[in-house]
Amino acid sequence: MDENVLQNLDLHQASEEGTEMVFHLNDAFFKALAQEEILGGDVEFRLRVRRRADSIYLLNVSVDGVVQTPCDRCLDPVSIHVEAEDELRAVHDDESFADEAEVLLTDKRSDKVDLSWTAYEIIETSLPLERCHDRENCNPEMLARISGTYEGEE
Ligand SMILES: [Zn+2]
Repeated sequence: MDENVLQNLDLHQASEEGTEMVFHLNDAFFKALAQEEILGGDVEFRLRVRRRADSIYLLNVSVDGVVQTPCDRCLDPVSIHVEAEDELRAVHDDESFADEAEVLLTDKRSDKVDLSWTAYEIIETSLPLERCHDRENCNPEMLARISGTYEGEE
């Protein structure tokens, strides 16, 4: 399924069907978001929706794939493997506890939700703090430009 479905997902319908949904998040998905941390990627986003009560849903989500971020040292793109899972509640505003992992339903009548930013956040928070190439794979010209001098091998 494409990311347009993820932006306007009908949870009621998804819970009735009960099947696991699989989305492929690609370069275009990450570029469309208002963020600069993830340059692109190829990530499988899996989602299972269960209905708890009227307009309260439990979402089991997992991500698995590769994203490109700027390397901490040379700023060239570096590929990072991401794998994470999470459980979220989806509720209307007036049911919100605020202190739990939640997403808010966007449409009162049809229980729709936009999960694109949620998917991004799960991926982003699963990234390691240090995002670097192996040292020999860093771009030497960029390293020289950043440090002001090119020292070659250390
Ligand atoms: Zn690098």
